Amino acid sequence: MLDDTYFMKQALMEADKAFARGEVPVGAVVVCRERIIARAHNLTETLNDVTAHAEMQAITAAADVLGGKYLNECTLYVTVEPCVMCAGAIAWAQTGKLVFGAADEKRGYRRYAPEALHPKTVVVDGVLESECADMMKNFFRNKR
Ligand SMILES: [Zn+2]
Repeated sequence: MLDDTYFMKQALMEADKAFARGEVPVGAVVVCRERIIARAHNLTETLNDVTAHAEMQAITAAADVLGGKYLNECTLYVTVEPCVMCAGAIAWAQTGKLVFGAADEKRGYRRYAPEALHPKTVVVDGVLESECADMMKNFFRNKR
């Protein structure tokens, strides 16, 4: 079944790669017509770049594959609620659908910019929420 849960599992696999590198474990995939066209994970430490969030890289990679800058026929899956920066990028890309797992009470866009997304973007939250949240909890627990 190529449903939201299936693709969120793929995003979790990306988050796992970030975890293994000591990066905050956030993963993302972009799906177009039931096919994954981009996979990315957070690389802010590796690239020494605060903008290297999973979503930013997934959007860039997906546009490259599509040969166009808009992702209006795509779904972006990300394990954690996007921040304000990424919500802005998701809006600029006119992303068709956004699916995320865990909420981010501190840095998530919904707290600061609940209307940041493109009005046509369909939002689904809470997919594999506990798995996505546990990945973050485990990471920050190990950090301490
Ligand atoms: Zn972000």
